[in-house]
Amino acid sequence: MGSDVAQTPSPVQGLYDGPMWEGIRARAMCLQRCCSCGTWQYPPGPGCHACLSEDLEWSPVSGDGTILSWAIFHRQYLQAYPAPYNVIAVRLAEGPVMISNLEGEQPDGNWIGCHVRLIYAEMPDGAVLPRFALTD
Ligand SMILES: [Zn+2]
Repeated sequence: MGSDVAQTPSPVQGLYDGPMWEGIRARAMCLQRCCSCGTWQYPPGPGCHACLSEDLEWSPVSGDGTILSWAIFHRQYLQAYPAPYNVIAVRLAEGPVMISNLEGEQPDGNWIGCHVRLIYAEMPDGAVLPRFALTD
């Protein structure tokens, strides 16, 4: 049974990641936010990394972010990610850093500091991934 559609690798799910991926599939990503001190955190966990409170809630993120770093991969490792492809580290407006990909137009020269916005990319096999696009 052959298929020409590359299968997107499944997310490696931690114990607390479920609600985040449910939000991504619904195109409304949520991250944990501490009800005691207001700190946002990613990756998700059982308690606040800032104040140790266990009183956390899932809240939608704004989707705004800034590129902290980037790399271009010229070698293909996975069928779903043909080379060349980029990987970016994004500081979300809420504070946490996510690793993702930049879709669409790419910056000329230095990517660091470019403003991006969260988008939901539907892969050819139907998987939905959180990615980013330039806003400048
Ligand atoms: Zn806290």
